[in-house]
Amino acid sequence: MRALVTGGAGFIGSHLVDRLVSRGDSVVVADNLSSGVLDFIQAHIDSGNVEFHNIDLKNLEHLIPLMEGIDIVYHLAANPDIRLGTRITNTDLNEGTIATYNVLESMRINNVNKIAFASSSVVYGENAPMPTPENHGPCIPISLYGASKQGGEGLIGAFVGTFGLQAWVFRFANIIGERGTHGVIFDFIHKLKADPNRLEVLGNGLQEKSYMEVGDCVDAMLHVVENTNEPMNLYNLGSNDTCSVRNIAAIVIRETGCKSAQIEYTGGDRGWAGDIPKAMLDIKRLQGLGFEVNYDSEEAVAYTARVLIKEIMG
Ligand code: NAD
Repeated sequence: MRALVTGGAGFIGSHLVDRLVSRGDSVVVADNLSSGVLDFIQAHIDSGNVEFHNIDLKNLEHLIPLMEGIDIVYHLAANPDIRLGTRITNTDLNEGTIATYNVLESMRINNVNKIAFASSSVVYGENAPMPTPENHGPCIPISLYGASKQGGEGLIGAFVGTFGLQAWVFRFANIIGERGTHGVIFDFIHKLKADPNRLEVLGNGLQEKSYMEVGDCVDAMLHVVENTNEPMNLYNLGSNDTCSVRNIAAIVIRETGCKSAQIEYTGGDRGWAGDIPKAMLDIKRLQGLGFEVNYDSEEAVAYTARVLIKEIMG
Protein backbone atom coordinates (compact mmCIF):
# COMPACT_ATOMS: atom_id res chain seq x y z
CA MET A 1 0.00 0.00 0.00
CA ARG A 2 1.40 3.41 -1.01
CA ALA A 3 -0.09 6.22 1.07
CA LEU A 4 0.17 9.98 0.72
CA VAL A 5 -0.18 11.83 4.03
CA THR A 6 -0.80 15.57 3.68
CA GLY A 7 0.24 17.34 6.86
CA GLY A 8 2.35 14.28 7.71
CA ALA A 9 4.94 16.38 9.57
CA GLY A 10 2.23 17.72 11.88
CA PHE A 11 1.12 16.56 15.30
CA ILE A 12 -1.53 13.99 14.29
CA GLY A 13 0.00 13.36 10.85
CA SER A 14 3.36 12.29 12.28
CA HIS A 15 1.67 9.73 14.55
CA LEU A 16 -0.25 8.40 11.56
CA VAL A 17 3.03 8.16 9.63
CA ASP A 18 4.53 6.15 12.53
CA ARG A 19 1.65 3.65 12.32
CA LEU A 20 1.74 3.36 8.52
CA VAL A 21 5.52 2.84 8.47
CA SER A 22 5.36 0.27 11.26
CA ARG A 23 2.81 -1.81 9.36
CA GLY A 24 4.98 -1.69 6.23
CA ASP A 25 3.16 0.83 4.02
CA SER A 26 5.18 2.94 1.63
CA VAL A 27 4.58 6.54 2.75
CA VAL A 28 4.83 9.86 0.95
CA VAL A 29 4.44 13.04 3.01
CA ALA A 30 3.38 16.41 1.56
CA ASP A 31 3.80 19.23 4.06
CA ASN A 32 4.85 22.88 3.81
CA LEU A 33 6.06 22.86 7.45
CA SER A 34 3.90 25.89 8.28
CA SER A 35 2.99 24.27 11.61
CA GLY A 36 4.63 20.88 11.08
CA VAL A 37 8.03 19.85 12.44
CA LEU A 38 10.35 17.87 10.19
CA ASP A 39 12.07 16.31 13.22
CA PHE A 40 8.83 14.43 13.99
CA ILE A 41 9.40 12.23 10.92
CA GLN A 42 13.14 12.71 10.29
CA ALA A 43 14.04 9.19 11.47
CA HIS A 44 11.63 7.70 8.91
CA ILE A 45 13.07 9.89 6.16
CA ASP A 46 16.63 8.88 7.14
CA SER A 47 15.72 5.19 7.13
CA GLY A 48 14.16 5.53 3.67
CA ASN A 49 10.65 4.62 4.87
CA VAL A 50 9.18 8.04 4.12
CA GLU A 51 9.53 10.19 1.02
CA PHE A 52 9.15 13.82 2.09
CA HIS A 53 8.03 16.69 -0.16
CA ASN A 54 8.02 20.25 1.12
CA ILE A 55 5.13 21.51 -0.97
CA ASP A 56 2.18 23.78 -0.46
CA LEU A 57 -1.19 22.20 -1.20
CA LYS A 58 -2.42 25.52 -2.49
CA ASN A 59 -0.26 24.85 -5.54
CA LEU A 60 -2.14 22.28 -7.66
CA GLU A 61 0.75 21.91 -10.13
CA HIS A 62 3.07 20.71 -7.35
CA LEU A 63 0.52 18.25 -6.05
CA ILE A 64 -0.39 16.50 -9.31
CA PRO A 65 2.91 14.56 -9.78
CA LEU A 66 2.89 13.37 -6.14
CA MET A 67 -0.35 11.45 -6.68
CA GLU A 68 1.17 9.06 -9.20
CA GLY A 69 0.91 5.48 -7.92
CA ILE A 70 -0.82 6.46 -4.65
CA ASP A 71 -3.45 4.00 -3.29
CA ILE A 72 -4.89 6.19 -0.54
CA VAL A 73 -4.59 9.80 0.58
CA TYR A 74 -4.82 10.73 4.26
CA HIS A 75 -5.59 14.44 4.05
CA LEU A 76 -4.64 16.07 7.34
CA ALA A 77 -3.02 19.33 6.27
CA ALA A 78 -4.88 22.45 7.40
CA ASN A 79 -4.49 25.54 9.51
CA PRO A 80 -4.77 24.12 13.06
CA ASP A 81 -5.52 27.43 14.80
CA ILE A 82 -9.29 27.96 15.01
CA ARG A 83 -8.86 31.30 16.76
CA LEU A 84 -6.84 32.77 13.87
CA GLY A 85 -10.07 33.20 11.91
CA THR A 86 -11.13 35.98 14.30
CA ARG A 87 -8.27 38.12 12.88
CA ILE A 88 -7.49 36.77 9.40
CA THR A 89 -10.52 35.70 7.45
CA ASN A 90 -9.10 33.90 4.39
CA THR A 91 -6.64 31.44 5.99
CA ASP A 92 -9.15 28.63 6.48
CA LEU A 93 -10.62 29.17 3.04
CA ASN A 94 -7.17 28.82 1.43
CA GLU A 95 -5.46 26.23 3.69
CA GLY A 96 -8.69 24.26 4.19
CA THR A 97 -11.26 24.45 1.42
CA ILE A 98 -9.03 25.36 -1.56
CA ALA A 99 -6.27 22.97 -0.45
CA THR A 100 -8.85 20.16 -0.16
CA TYR A 101 -10.15 20.93 -3.65
CA ASN A 102 -6.55 20.68 -4.96
CA VAL A 103 -6.04 17.33 -3.23
CA LEU A 104 -9.26 15.97 -4.77
CA GLU A 105 -8.56 17.38 -8.22
CA SER A 106 -5.02 15.97 -8.29
CA MET A 107 -6.48 12.60 -7.19
CA ARG A 108 -9.06 12.72 -10.00
CA ILE A 109 -6.38 13.50 -12.59
CA ASN A 110 -4.26 10.53 -11.40
CA ASN A 111 -7.15 8.09 -10.82
CA VAL A 112 -6.42 7.89 -7.09
CA ASN A 113 -9.61 6.62 -5.55
CA LYS A 114 -9.48 6.66 -1.74
CA ILE A 115 -9.32 9.61 0.64
CA ALA A 116 -9.47 9.82 4.44
CA PHE A 117 -10.12 13.37 5.71
CA ALA A 118 -9.48 15.00 9.09
CA SER A 119 -12.65 16.98 9.73
CA SER A 120 -13.78 18.27 13.09
CA SER A 121 -16.58 18.22 15.67
CA VAL A 122 -16.89 21.99 15.13
CA VAL A 123 -18.87 21.37 11.93
CA TYR A 124 -21.85 20.55 14.18
CA GLY A 125 -21.90 24.16 15.39
CA GLU A 126 -23.49 25.34 18.60
CA ASN A 127 -26.37 23.80 20.55
CA ALA A 128 -26.10 20.37 18.94
CA PRO A 129 -27.42 17.57 21.20
CA MET A 130 -24.71 16.07 23.42
CA PRO A 131 -23.36 13.53 22.68
CA THR A 132 -23.68 14.52 19.01
CA PRO A 133 -24.35 11.70 16.53
CA GLU A 134 -23.07 11.75 12.94
CA ASN A 135 -26.60 12.19 11.57
CA HIS A 136 -27.20 15.44 13.46
CA GLY A 137 -28.17 18.27 11.16
CA PRO A 138 -28.38 20.84 9.85
CA CYS A 139 -24.71 21.47 10.63
CA ILE A 140 -24.11 25.19 10.99
CA PRO A 141 -20.50 25.87 12.01
CA ILE A 142 -19.81 29.18 13.77
CA SER A 143 -16.05 29.52 13.04
CA LEU A 144 -14.27 30.08 9.73
CA TYR A 145 -12.26 26.95 10.49
CA GLY A 146 -15.52 24.99 10.92
CA ALA A 147 -16.85 26.42 7.67
CA SER A 148 -13.68 25.27 5.86
CA LYS A 149 -14.06 21.74 7.26
CA GLN A 150 -17.69 21.64 6.18
CA GLY A 151 -16.61 22.94 2.76
CA GLY A 152 -14.02 20.16 2.57
CA GLU A 153 -16.62 17.54 3.49
CA GLY A 154 -18.95 18.93 0.83
CA LEU A 155 -16.27 18.79 -1.86
CA ILE A 156 -15.38 15.24 -0.87
CA GLY A 157 -19.05 14.21 -1.11
CA ALA A 158 -19.18 15.84 -4.55
CA PHE A 159 -16.10 13.97 -5.80
CA VAL A 160 -17.50 10.71 -4.39
CA GLY A 161 -20.84 11.29 -6.11
CA THR A 162 -19.47 12.64 -9.38
CA PHE A 163 -16.17 10.82 -9.94
CA GLY A 164 -16.61 7.60 -7.94
CA LEU A 165 -14.06 8.32 -5.20
CA GLN A 166 -14.36 6.45 -1.88
CA ALA A 167 -14.04 8.55 1.27
CA TRP A 168 -13.66 8.32 5.03
CA VAL A 169 -14.57 11.57 6.78
CA PHE A 170 -13.50 11.75 10.42
CA ARG A 171 -14.97 14.35 12.73
CA PHE A 172 -12.35 14.60 15.46
CA ALA A 173 -12.92 15.71 19.04
CA ASN A 174 -9.96 17.57 20.61
CA ILE A 175 -6.92 15.44 19.87
CA ILE A 176 -4.08 15.68 22.38
CA GLY A 177 -0.87 13.86 23.25
CA GLU A 178 2.85 13.60 22.60
CA ARG A 179 4.29 16.19 20.12
CA GLY A 180 1.25 18.45 20.57
CA THR A 181 2.06 21.91 19.21
CA HIS A 182 -1.13 23.78 20.06
CA GLY A 183 -4.26 23.67 22.19
CA VAL A 184 -5.23 24.35 25.78
CA ILE A 185 -2.73 22.06 27.56
CA PHE A 186 0.16 23.30 25.41
CA ASP A 187 -0.89 26.93 26.12
CA PHE A 188 -1.20 26.40 29.89
CA ILE A 189 2.26 24.82 30.12
CA HIS A 190 3.83 27.68 28.15
CA LYS A 191 2.08 30.25 30.35
CA LEU A 192 3.27 28.53 33.54
CA LYS A 193 6.78 28.26 32.16
CA ALA A 194 6.77 32.04 31.57
CA ASP A 195 5.16 32.83 34.97
CA PRO A 196 4.75 29.96 37.49
CA ASN A 197 2.64 32.16 39.78
CA ARG A 198 -0.16 33.05 37.37
CA LEU A 199 -2.32 31.13 34.90
CA GLU A 200 -4.62 33.03 32.58
CA VAL A 201 -7.59 30.93 31.46
CA LEU A 202 -9.64 32.10 28.47
CA GLY A 203 -13.37 32.25 29.28
CA ASN A 204 -14.89 31.21 32.63
CA GLY A 205 -13.28 27.75 32.61
CA LEU A 206 -16.64 25.98 32.45
CA GLN A 207 -16.08 25.03 28.81
CA GLU A 208 -16.31 21.27 28.59
CA LYS A 209 -15.12 19.11 25.71
CA SER A 210 -14.09 15.58 24.83
CA TYR A 211 -10.38 14.84 24.54
CA MET A 212 -8.94 11.90 22.61
CA GLU A 213 -5.34 10.72 22.89
CA VAL A 214 -3.55 10.96 19.53
CA GLY A 215 -2.56 7.27 19.45
CA ASP A 216 -6.23 6.34 19.95
CA CYS A 217 -7.14 8.79 17.16
CA VAL A 218 -4.82 7.35 14.50
CA ASP A 219 -5.60 3.75 15.54
CA ALA A 220 -9.31 4.56 15.18
CA MET A 221 -8.78 6.09 11.73
CA LEU A 222 -6.97 3.00 10.45
CA HIS A 223 -9.49 0.67 12.11
CA VAL A 224 -12.42 2.41 10.42
CA VAL A 225 -10.73 2.47 7.00
CA GLU A 226 -10.01 -1.25 7.28
CA ASN A 227 -13.48 -2.20 8.46
CA THR A 228 -15.84 -0.13 6.30
CA ASN A 229 -16.48 -0.03 2.59
CA GLU A 230 -19.28 2.41 1.76
CA PRO A 231 -18.61 5.05 -0.89
CA MET A 232 -18.81 7.70 1.89
CA ASN A 233 -17.97 6.66 5.45
CA LEU A 234 -18.60 9.31 8.12
CA TYR A 235 -17.31 8.71 11.67
CA ASN A 236 -17.01 10.74 14.86
CA LEU A 237 -13.70 10.08 16.63
CA GLY A 238 -13.58 10.97 20.30
CA SER A 239 -13.75 9.57 23.81
CA ASN A 240 -16.73 8.72 25.98
CA ASP A 241 -16.80 11.74 28.27
CA THR A 242 -15.68 15.36 28.72
CA CYS A 243 -13.19 17.34 30.78
CA SER A 244 -13.71 20.98 31.80
CA VAL A 245 -11.13 23.71 31.28
CA ARG A 246 -11.08 24.25 35.08
CA ASN A 247 -10.17 20.60 35.51
CA ILE A 248 -7.47 20.87 32.84
CA ALA A 249 -6.00 23.92 34.62
CA ALA A 250 -5.94 21.98 37.91
CA ILE A 251 -4.28 18.96 36.25
CA VAL A 252 -1.61 21.08 34.54
CA ILE A 253 -0.88 22.99 37.77
CA ARG A 254 -0.59 19.68 39.65
CA GLU A 255 1.66 18.06 37.03
CA THR A 256 3.96 21.11 36.69
CA GLY A 257 4.20 21.47 40.46
CA CYS A 258 3.35 25.21 40.13
CA LYS A 259 1.20 25.06 43.28
CA SER A 260 1.25 28.79 43.90
CA ALA A 261 -0.22 29.62 40.48
CA GLN A 262 -3.27 31.89 40.76
CA ILE A 263 -5.88 31.19 38.09
CA GLU A 264 -7.25 34.29 36.35
CA TYR A 265 -10.32 33.81 34.16
CA THR A 266 -10.83 36.26 31.31
CA GLY A 267 -14.60 35.65 31.66
CA GLY A 268 -17.45 34.83 29.30
CA ASP A 269 -18.75 31.38 28.40
CA ARG A 270 -16.13 30.68 25.70
CA GLY A 271 -12.45 31.20 24.92
CA TRP A 272 -12.98 33.35 21.82
CA ALA A 273 -15.65 34.26 19.27
CA GLY A 274 -16.48 31.14 17.28
CA ASP A 275 -15.40 28.74 20.05
CA ILE A 276 -17.93 26.02 20.94
CA PRO A 277 -18.05 25.97 24.76
CA LYS A 278 -19.46 22.46 25.18
CA ALA A 279 -18.88 19.51 22.87
CA MET A 280 -19.09 15.77 23.13
CA LEU A 281 -19.34 13.38 20.20
CA ASP A 282 -21.45 10.25 20.09
CA ILE A 283 -18.96 7.48 19.29
CA LYS A 284 -21.37 4.52 19.11
CA ARG A 285 -20.79 4.17 15.37
CA LEU A 286 -17.03 3.79 16.00
CA GLN A 287 -17.63 1.38 18.88
CA GLY A 288 -19.98 -0.59 16.64
CA LEU A 289 -16.91 -1.50 14.58
CA GLY A 290 -15.31 -3.03 17.67
CA PHE A 291 -13.03 -0.10 18.53
CA GLU A 292 -12.55 1.11 22.11
CA VAL A 293 -10.35 4.03 23.17
CA ASN A 294 -7.56 3.44 25.69
CA TYR A 295 -7.88 6.80 27.45
CA ASP A 296 -10.94 8.70 28.69
CA SER A 297 -10.78 12.51 28.49
CA GLU A 298 -9.25 13.10 31.93
CA GLU A 299 -6.67 10.33 31.50
CA ALA A 300 -5.74 11.73 28.09
CA VAL A 301 -5.35 15.22 29.60
CA ALA A 302 -3.17 14.00 32.49
CA TYR A 303 -1.00 11.87 30.18
CA THR A 304 -0.63 14.74 27.70
CA ALA A 305 0.25 17.19 30.46
CA ARG A 306 3.06 14.88 31.61
CA VAL A 307 4.58 14.32 28.17
CA LEU A 308 4.27 17.96 27.07
CA ILE A 309 5.78 19.24 30.33
CA LYS A 310 8.84 17.10 29.53
CA GLU A 311 8.90 18.37 25.92
CA ILE A 312 8.39 22.06 26.84
CA MET A 313 9.99 22.45 30.28
CA GLY A 314 12.68 19.81 29.87
P1 NAD B 1 -0.84 20.40 12.75
O1 NAD B 1 -0.76 21.88 12.54
O2 NAD B 1 0.19 19.80 13.63
O3 NAD B 1 -0.83 19.65 11.35
C1 NAD B 1 -1.19 20.27 10.14
C2 NAD B 1 -0.05 20.04 9.17
O4 NAD B 1 -0.43 20.53 7.89
C3 NAD B 1 1.24 20.76 9.56
O5 NAD B 1 2.31 19.84 9.47
C4 NAD B 1 1.36 21.87 8.52
O6 NAD B 1 2.71 22.22 8.28
C5 NAD B 1 0.65 21.26 7.33
N1 NAD B 1 0.08 22.24 6.41
C6 NAD B 1 -0.77 23.25 6.71
N2 NAD B 1 -1.10 23.93 5.58
C7 NAD B 1 -0.46 23.32 4.56
C8 NAD B 1 -0.41 23.56 3.15
N3 NAD B 1 -1.07 24.58 2.57
N4 NAD B 1 0.36 22.75 2.39
C9 NAD B 1 1.06 21.73 2.95
N5 NAD B 1 1.03 21.45 4.27
C10 NAD B 1 0.29 22.25 5.07
O7 NAD B 1 -2.30 20.11 13.30
P2 NAD B 1 -2.96 18.75 13.81
O8 NAD B 1 -3.52 19.03 15.15
O9 NAD B 1 -2.04 17.60 13.64
O10 NAD B 1 -4.18 18.62 12.82
C11 NAD B 1 -4.21 17.70 11.74
C12 NAD B 1 -5.58 17.76 11.09
O11 NAD B 1 -6.59 17.37 12.03
C13 NAD B 1 -5.96 19.17 10.62
O12 NAD B 1 -6.69 19.05 9.43
C14 NAD B 1 -6.86 19.66 11.71
O13 NAD B 1 -7.78 20.63 11.26
C15 NAD B 1 -7.58 18.36 12.10
N6 NAD B 1 -8.14 18.41 13.44
C16 NAD B 1 -7.31 18.48 14.52
C17 NAD B 1 -7.88 18.51 15.80
C18 NAD B 1 -6.99 18.60 17.03
O14 NAD B 1 -7.54 18.62 18.13
N7 NAD B 1 -5.68 18.60 16.92
C19 NAD B 1 -9.26 18.46 15.98
C20 NAD B 1 -10.08 18.40 14.84
C21 NAD B 1 -9.51 18.34 13.58
